[in-house]
Amino acid sequence: MSSGILKSLGFGNLDVSGYCVRCRSRVKMKKIEEVVMSNKKKAYKGVCSECGATIYRIRPESREGMW
Ligand SMILES: [Zn+2]
Repeated sequence: MSSGILKSLGFGNLDVSGYCVRCRSRVKMKKIEEVVMSNKKKAYKGVCSECGATIYRIRPESREGMW
């Protein structure tokens, strides 16, 4: 369990993509949550819909509404 999760964003049905290092390609993310990384940056954490690997995507501070 991660203690850095701020909230679940409920994006389960949204078509959000991220880069999966295991698939080495852009994949659809699921189970997206907003988290704070060790460097205090906010990021989105999701799960690769192809292989189930965890994907982190840094959230741009100046564009909160990019989703
Ligand atoms: Zn993957």
